[in-house]
Amino acid sequence: MAYDFDLFVIGAGSGGVRASRIAATHGAKVAIAEEYRYGGTCVIRGCVPKKLFVYASHFAEDFEDAAAYGWSLDKPSFNWTTLIANKDREIDRLNGIYIKLLDGAGVRRYDGRARLRDAHTIQIGDDVVTAERILLATGGTPTYPELPGIEHAICSNEAFHLDALPRHVTVVGGGYIAVEFAGIFNGLGCEVTQLYRGEQILRGFDRDVRDHLAGEIAKKGIDLRTDTNVTGIEKISQDSGGGYRLTLTTGETMDTGLVMCATGRHPNSGDLGLETVGVELTKSGAVKVDDWSQTSIPHIHAVGDLTDRIALTPVALMEGHAYADTVFGNMPRQPNHADVPSAVFSQPSVGHVGLTEEQARSQIGEVDIYKSIFTPMKHTLTPSDEKTLMKLIVDARTDRVVGCHVVGPDAAEMVQGLGIALRCNATKAQFDATVGIHPSSAEELVTMRTKWTPPPEAQAAE
Ligand code: NDP
Repeated sequence: MAYDFDLFVIGAGSGGVRASRIAATHGAKVAIAEEYRYGGTCVIRGCVPKKLFVYASHFAEDFEDAAAYGWSLDKPSFNWTTLIANKDREIDRLNGIYIKLLDGAGVRRYDGRARLRDAHTIQIGDDVVTAERILLATGGTPTYPELPGIEHAICSNEAFHLDALPRHVTVVGGGYIAVEFAGIFNGLGCEVTQLYRGEQILRGFDRDVRDHLAGEIAKKGIDLRTDTNVTGIEKISQDSGGGYRLTLTTGETMDTGLVMCATGRHPNSGDLGLETVGVELTKSGAVKVDDWSQTSIPHIHAVGDLTDRIALTPVALMEGHAYADTVFGNMPRQPNHADVPSAVFSQPSVGHVGLTEEQARSQIGEVDIYKSIFTPMKHTLTPSDEKTLMKLIVDARTDRVVGCHVVGPDAAEMVQGLGIALRCNATKAQFDATVGIHPSSAEELVTMRTKWTPPPEAQAAE
């Protein structure tokens, strides 16, 4: 049977756009559907605008630090409207670039929501087309907790378009988005309370990283309350001052100007016609895929946050690219999800790759730990008491470095390179043989020589 297209991609985010372009470059006739804007969560309402906000908010500290270096500034002031307008201009530019890239590669674009009518037929508004293969790349969307008054809360989507910043913001959650936005609002001059239901933020990260970051963000003035969650949100009338009254699991109430939930994300697998076709989902609603990103229907594949793998843009890019090379480029390869480096753009930032100490101890057994907490050189002159943490986890039998963790300025920039080292199975001896760059914080990563030993009381408890 002749199809209209060799490949129809649903969703023009990172994974979908990459797969369409590469498949088209390999000679396939490709179409893509997007119901919102081209670029997906990362470009439109995720990584990119978030990082611009992080830059904006960090200036507050930079101005304070500058005084210690002899600069005198009139009291700096911040204009939210200017930031939003400039950010929107950049997002418009990127949206345009994505459209140009697709058009340049000869990918036919359909603006609208696509649904599967049968295993080879896709409907987008009034258009009905057929394709030999289909790639699902519809990403994820924020999950709100179920509680009375939740309609008064916003999530990160709305945070990028607020009319104004309130005096006080409450961020709910302890994951990537929560710590990043708590830092952003704090830097931009809001009072910030961050509520996290567990005993320490960033569950799943290395324990030292979690404790260190929690201490640093508290030093910067964020009121971080762990073991605390919201049970209800009530709107306060304008006559009584406006804002919201939160009831907390601790029994307390708290008034705030804005509640932002950063309580996880779920896959956008609804209303796509997947059940009609028999594409299987996991319990959490993610599309089930094998190591080749193939779903339960052999000619339908899925990549990115819609699947239950690692919800990061570069991972979606890797999955989309590997899919297109495999299916259309005669270059079969599976995406490799091992040792994926990632960063949290908190303030200070976190970068990590490989195993946490806890994972290494349970998976490997005997490990050597090297860690260092120090004042970055820049802050030897400033009033800041921010400390940097660096930690290496080494397999004691093979000397292989299996985990690297950094909390401090430019952690992402450092850990990207360490990701290569871990990919190459670098040993601690090779780290030690590498000459440091002086003066830098990163040199600490190749100069840590003393194995960390637990304090005597911890040893006694083991
Ligand atoms: P995360 O899964 O990282 O964090 C969700 C947080 O919400 C956790 O602290 C979780 O608590 C908490 N939570 C979940 N349900 C509830 C509830 N009902 N009430 C209160 N708290 C709740 O999700 P995010 O939304 O922060 O980010 C989603 C994903 O997007 C990330 O995992 C990451 O993969 C990606 N991302 C990456 C970024 C980067 O690379 N810099 C930036 C932003 C997002 P608990 O720990 O107890 O489950």
